[in-house]
Amino acid sequence: MKCIPCDCVQTISPYEAGKPLQELKRELQIDSPIKLASNENPLGISPLAAQAAARYIGEMNRYPESSAHDLCHALASKYQVDFENIVPGNGSDDVIALLAHGFLNPGDEAVMPVPSFLMYEISVKTAKGRPVMVPLKDYGIDLGSMLAKVGDRTRMVFVTNPFNPTGAAISRGEFAEFCGALPENVLIIVDEAYIEFVRDPSVYNSLAEPLSDPRIVTLRTFSKAYGLAGFRVGYGIMDRDVAGILHRIRQPFNVSGLAQAAGAAALADDAFLEKSVALVHEGMEFFSGEFTRMGLSFLPSQANFIMVDLEQDATAVFQKMLKKGVIVRSLKSYGFDSFLRITMGTPEENQRCVSVLEQVLTGENG
Ligand code: PMP
Repeated sequence: MKCIPCDCVQTISPYEAGKPLQELKRELQIDSPIKLASNENPLGISPLAAQAAARYIGEMNRYPESSAHDLCHALASKYQVDFENIVPGNGSDDVIALLAHGFLNPGDEAVMPVPSFLMYEISVKTAKGRPVMVPLKDYGIDLGSMLAKVGDRTRMVFVTNPFNPTGAAISRGEFAEFCGALPENVLIIVDEAYIEFVRDPSVYNSLAEPLSDPRIVTLRTFSKAYGLAGFRVGYGIMDRDVAGILHRIRQPFNVSGLAQAAGAAALADDAFLEKSVALVHEGMEFFSGEFTRMGLSFLPSQANFIMVDLEQDATAVFQKMLKKGVIVRSLKSYGFDSFLRITMGTPEENQRCVSVLEQVLTGENG
């Protein structure tokens, strides 16, 4: 190719998504594969959201409301914030990119844990910023070491709570202490994609117990507990001046009308949310019990996924499980070569996953 890409792109590798079910069906002609790889909701979508989307479909010849009016008002009322504090996104991925583009000049730094959700690094690099990577400590975010990496060029820090891929979480006290030690011109981005699944009451929840610090930006998504991953809808809640910057650069129609309608309806469906969260907790009990029975160690998780240590090349196990129609996540690209990450599914899916894992580990063909 003779055309010359930006320097910042040279070190970006494409995001590796979990393998889609359709792809596995095509490749291996497996009729009923299951996917426990991308932390999606196994219950499908809320019936209220499905109805709202179906009602909206006839309007899809029109551009949607740019402000995502109904969705953002519903969020404002649920979380007791103003409409002006909310930035809707085409998934929270979109809001991450907006923050990087709105707040980083070339060479400015964003401090983040490594490994972590790859979109932080990709967005920061695309905005010509410099990701400053801080290794985990005991499989969780090392706030002390992150603080030590904050310098004159630091404009933002990323804190994922609970953390993907390990499921570790940070307490309110730890987080407040971290914020207190950060310079006042640094945005503190708290990614709470999995917050709905948290069981430990000491875990920090930025909207349930706000610290009223204008540097804090909360990222939330409808992709996990709300079951709308395919619609692509997430949002950020932040100081209105920060939101104002993102609104200047966001695409005017970044959230489709269908996604806006589904999101607003899903937010009102408490019964579906409760059922989804209960299913995850049940799944966590099941997997913990089964791994213990199988003599495998795993990491305690506050999210809807669990990391299990196979003490061998987990990618090879992942490949064998794929051939048996079970998609989980190999974590080689995260540097956890011996671990798999498994998303909580329905009880039947969880059972099948464990059976297949056991067959592969014991070398049975079954
Ligand atoms: N943050 C974290 C930690 C995630 O794991 C994900 C999705 N895997 C996202 C953000 C993005 O979610 P979405 O763009 O679907 O809202």
